[in-house]
Amino acid sequence: MNEKSIYIIGAGISGLVAAIELEKAGYYPVILEAQGEAGGRVQTLEVEGYLLDKGFQVLLTAYPEIRRYLDLEALELKKFKSGAIIFRPGSTFAIHDPMRDPIKGVAMAFSQVGTLLDKLRLYRLTKKLKAKSTDLIFSSAESSTLDYLKNAGFSKRIIENFFAPFFTGIFLETELSTSSRMFEFVFKMFAEGFASVPAKGMGQITAQLLAQLNHTQIRYHTPVSGVKKNQILLADGNTITADEIIIATAHGTLTGHPEETFHQVTNLYFTLQQSFIGKPMIGLVTDDKFLINNLAFMTDVSPDYAADGRALLSVSVVKNVTGIENLEELIALELEVLSGISASYFQHVKTISIPRALPCIEDLKNWIPPQHVKLYDHVYLAGDHMLNGSINAAMTSGRLAAEALIAGE
Ligand SMILES: Cc1cc2nc3c(=O)[nH]c(=O)nc-3n(C[C@H](O)[C@H](O)[C@H](O)COP(=O)(O)OP(=O)(O)OC[C@H]3O[C@@H](n4cnc5c(N)ncnc54)[C@H](O)[C@@H]3O)c2cc1C
Repeated sequence: MNEKSIYIIGAGISGLVAAIELEKAGYYPVILEAQGEAGGRVQTLEVEGYLLDKGFQVLLTAYPEIRRYLDLEALELKKFKSGAIIFRPGSTFAIHDPMRDPIKGVAMAFSQVGTLLDKLRLYRLTKKLKAKSTDLIFSSAESSTLDYLKNAGFSKRIIENFFAPFFTGIFLETELSTSSRMFEFVFKMFAEGFASVPAKGMGQITAQLLAQLNHTQIRYHTPVSGVKKNQILLADGNTITADEIIIATAHGTLTGHPEETFHQVTNLYFTLQQSFIGKPMIGLVTDDKFLINNLAFMTDVSPDYAADGRALLSVSVVKNVTGIENLEELIALELEVLSGISASYFQHVKTISIPRALPCIEDLKNWIPPQHVKLYDHVYLAGDHMLNGSINAAMTSGRLAAEALIAGE
């Protein structure tokens, strides 16, 4: 055992991975976590027998970092079918495999979302990004995703009907202003693997990381209010002196640096007698007048999401709906227009607002050198905001912080 006292602030994915790496090196770290449970943004609530992920999210099976930390088989991953169901008032159609095999997969309905040239451009893009390494993607020149798509020659039609709603749901912003590096990375991940969820919810990812910790103490309900040199100031007024600290969350407010900014999202869960999609596919709403961005029947992907056999519907709203009092009713009415099923049949289970969902990052990366992980002597930084907003990046950042600490860099 290494006697150094190491404190990690935050038991999200990055903090848990940092602890796993530190344990491997013989340390016995302590995690200080503000909430009553681990996982941060990757948690699943159980409400009335329904499994509700705290925000619709998926694990992309092609993420390189997950193989280091997750036993994918034990997670019993359930895959979404590639592509999307496009919902418009009065018409609904599926586009299959636009990012995996656009030539073979994209069916007749493609003519409703794009042109023949778009199909060929998708094919070219898929081929190019499959061959482009992740490192090269993250060192390429950046533009907004919208400019990237325009420069790649995609038509306004396919941008509005497919790329915009699909990537709005991933980037959690409506302008496609997110860096083209993230677009290329996510597109590559979709082309090379599948979007999936563990059979019993995304929280299983957290549970699997937790189960790998044997010598880590987690102190829940312990919010930290500041870090000065090697002193941790707790919100209850106590101070801890540590040999080494990893701040595994946005650190601006804790260290007096500029506060990080985030994209927000609102996630609403409803149940229905039966799914109106009927297959494990993500539904996209392309009409900008709607609040709904995307929807998915979680029970179409994994029946375990509902104990009573009803269909569990997850609806994501990326537009800012703070202060709308009758939001659930409005969303149920939108669902009626999209599905033709009376709003009264949609039983609301829960609404989850996530104000700090994805970090807004200007210079997206997938790796940083050890000296950039170190804030100053004895204090290291982790969290997705260091790299890019994904589970993959959160894991990498936790590993890099632990490696830098262990190496004393
Ligand atoms: C709605 C939504 C959809 C997403 N979709 C995807 C997706 O499809 N695929 C994907 O790969 N990623 C997705 N993500 C992103 C992914 O969930 C995150 O990148 C990842 O979980 C971040 O982990 P983290 O450890 O960096 O941060 P966090 O999960 O934020 O963990 C930080 C932890 O620190 C704790 N903490 C914060 N401040 C303090 C303090 N002062 N004192 C003590 N503890 C503190 C917090 O309570 C939290 O537990 C999504 C996220 C959201 C919210």
